[in-house]
Amino acid sequence: MLLADERKQIIDVCHRMVADDLVVGTAGNVSVRAGELLAITPSGVPYADLRPELISVVRFDDGARVDSPLAPASELELHQVALRATQSGAVVHTHSGAATAVACLEGIDEVPAVHYYAAMFGGAPRVAPYHRYGSSALASAVESALVGRNSALMGNHGAVVTGSDLTQAYDRALYLEWLCDLVLRVSSAGVPRVLPEEEIAGVVEQMKGYGQSAPPADAR
Ligand SMILES: [Zn+2]
Repeated sequence: MLLADERKQIIDVCHRMVADDLVVGTAGNVSVRAGELLAITPSGVPYADLRPELISVVRFDDGARVDSPLAPASELELHQVALRATQSGAVVHTHSGAATAVACLEGIDEVPAVHYYAAMFGGAPRVAPYHRYGSSALASAVESALVGRNSALMGNHGAVVTGSDLTQAYDRALYLEWLCDLVLRVSSAGVPRVLPEEEIAGVVEQMKGYGQSAPPADAR
């Protein structure tokens, strides 16, 4: 099967999104780029019903269906644009509760950097202005919001998160939801103390050298 591994990864992440409460119903969508091809969730299929052969494979450049028994996700263009803008390998789009709540706040055009974890996204994630779902205007607004960032909120809609692979994109989606939940808690308890932009920029640099892999089990 074409892109069998990528299709399986997508289904695994979809099941995690449901288990971790990042989506309800058929909301959200997930994609993985493989060279000239893109594997993406189909439109409107409950996550519990997904099978590898139902995942859409399209051409990355123009979205033409290559092996796609069902219509690909309505946000296909958003995924193409986000992957291009960030030079990433995978995209996770959710309607997770806290991120979506922050994206619905009047006058908030970026997630307040109340915690240094804002640096995980290349800096405080911006909120792209609202445009109707599936529209080119939405994809274009998100493209602007992603300049220098790996993630963005979509006004009155949800979150879009990228990563070099699906594991990284999904981890970032969890961290973004955590940060937005923190913002809501802080805002309801008092006045948020937002970290200066220069501090977040410094943490972005520091994080570039952070993180290590476990050595192989048989390493001596
Ligand atoms: Zn959506």
